[in-house]
Amino acid sequence: MAIEWITGRTVSLACPVCAAAGPKRVRLSVESAVHNWARLTLVQCPDCRSAFYDDLTPARYEDYHSSGPFKFHVEQGAGVDAMLAPLFRLRSERVRRYLEVGCGFGYSLDFARFAFGWQVRGIDPSSVAAAGREALNLDILPTYLTRDTDFGGTTFDLILCSELIEHVPNPDELLTVVRRVLAEDGALTLTTPNAAAIAPETTSGALLNIVAPGCHLILFSKASLEHVLKANGFGHVQVWEYPHALHAVASRRAYPVLHAPVVDRALYRRYLAQRSATMSVETPVGLGFTYRLFKECVNAGDFSASQPAFDRLRAAYSPTYGIDLMAPESIVFTPEASHDFDRFAERHAFNLTGVLFFRGMTEMNHTANYRSALHTSEPRRGQAWPSAPPCARSAPMTARRRISSPRPGSTPFTASLTWIR
Ligand SMILES: [Zn+2]
Repeated sequence: MAIEWITGRTVSLACPVCAAAGPKRVRLSVESAVHNWARLTLVQCPDCRSAFYDDLTPARYEDYHSSGPFKFHVEQGAGVDAMLAPLFRLRSERVRRYLEVGCGFGYSLDFARFAFGWQVRGIDPSSVAAAGREALNLDILPTYLTRDTDFGGTTFDLILCSELIEHVPNPDELLTVVRRVLAEDGALTLTTPNAAAIAPETTSGALLNIVAPGCHLILFSKASLEHVLKANGFGHVQVWEYPHALHAVASRRAYPVLHAPVVDRALYRRYLAQRSATMSVETPVGLGFTYRLFKECVNAGDFSASQPAFDRLRAAYSPTYGIDLMAPESIVFTPEASHDFDRFAERHAFNLTGVLFFRGMTEMNHTANYRSALHTSEPRRGQAWPSAPPCARSAPMTARRRISSPRPGSTPFTASLTWIR
């Protein structure tokens, strides 16, 4: 999925954000997994600085049912704590009814119900959302939010659109419906990639997550996000700009916010502990919760609390993958004959390198067993990753996966470190 940077070319397209007609500078072209690897062109509006593709056809998220990307998401890929950050910008006692549009698996809904006691609902047509509805027992409507969506007259005190508005061809339509179901004194909070990061200097991993061809349609600048929110009846708009992301809170009335939200790590850890204790660690979802709990304990330096989580991981890894986490030097990666990502996922746990890394940190910083710490980072000699990486060329999540390709000739562990978030 190579990006080709283009200079000195313009095309005439109307801006879907500010409606400005006239020439738009072409920034790049890139292949789209969703469009059968056709090349899409990304242009930028000189007036509002939004970037948008020449084809604004949205992906049909309801049609994708790949098991490999889902397993990766719940075991390793989903940055659950990062998803929660927008919630900590607001005062939780102001919220009773909470809606997340495009909620995916529903991590933020599940956390908010546990941590704040909010009444939570989600809306999302994807199979990932269907899995979350079942696994986490969440109230998720399996459809898109449209003018016809009926919540039975309910309005919500808080609506979250996390990494959603960039997937939508008509942001005015989305925001009109959101405003209709938002309580008069409620707030919309949203996150979206920052169009200012579309530059050759941005690292390829970050850039791919931002341009996400075929999935993302419109990328906002700080100014264009403020514009589209105000133009849709949100009189109070605050946008925070980060190198790769924009966060916003929009409301009809003045709404108190924290300018530098901090995720309550202790509360997050209690949530993970509760989920780890109640879900089977032999399922990808349960394995993902227990891995995140283990990681959280190690990062907090609470090694005694990390041990039971590690023991649960070890108990699951042995029968499922034939791996003894206490003997990492014996782990052998067998080259894959197939490049089928779903098949790869059946045979491997995506958080293995993360588990070994944090186990190594424990051995080094807690027990001072440096030989053992080294064993978690030394592959068995003579083994190598497949010469080509496992690659799913079937689903739009391909573009959103956080997997980097191992470099030819690199050691397995070095290569697999790119999986750790
Ligand atoms: Zn514009």
